[in-house]
Amino acid sequence: MAKLKIVKHGDETLRKVCRPIDQITPRIITLLDDMIETMRDADGCGLAAPQVGILRRIAVVEVEPGEVIELINPKIIAFAGEQEESEGCLSIPGRWGITKRPMHVTVRALNRKGETFEISGSELLARALCHEIDHLDGKLFIDKMIREVE
Ligand code: ZN
Repeated sequence: MAKLKIVKHGDETLRKVCRPIDQITPRIITLLDDMIETMRDADGCGLAAPQVGILRRIAVVEVEPGEVIELINPKIIAFAGEQEESEGCLSIPGRWGITKRPMHVTVRALNRKGETFEISGSELLARALCHEIDHLDGKLFIDKMIREVE
C-alpha cells in the first residue's frame, strides 16, 4: 500500500465530473487500498478518488473505525429528512462549515468484487456518503455551506 498525495482546493481536478468504472482491474483494487491508507493517515472519515488526482467514481468512507465502506460508482437512491451539521474536507484543511444534508440516505454501489450492494446511513454516515459522492461530481462542501464555523 502507498500513501497518496491529497489534492487541495484550488486545483481544477476537484471540479471535474468523474467517469464511472466499467471494469474492476488490479489497479482499481490497489487504488482502493491506497485511498484507505491515505484517508486513515490524514485522520479523515472519507476520501474520494479526485482528491488523489484520479477522475473516477470511487470513494471510501470510514465513520466507525475499522468499518470501511468502499464505493465504486455510488449513487444515492433514497434520502429522507434533513440535518444541519458542520463538515470539513481533507482537500480544504482548516475550514469547517455548516451544511444542510439529508438525515438518512441509501446508496447503491459496487464493491471491489464487482457486486452491487446498498448501504443506508444516518447522521454522520449520511453526511459522509453525500460529501464523498458530491466529490465525484466536482462539488465541494463550501459550495453548499450555510455558514463557516470558526
Ligand atoms: Zn471532501
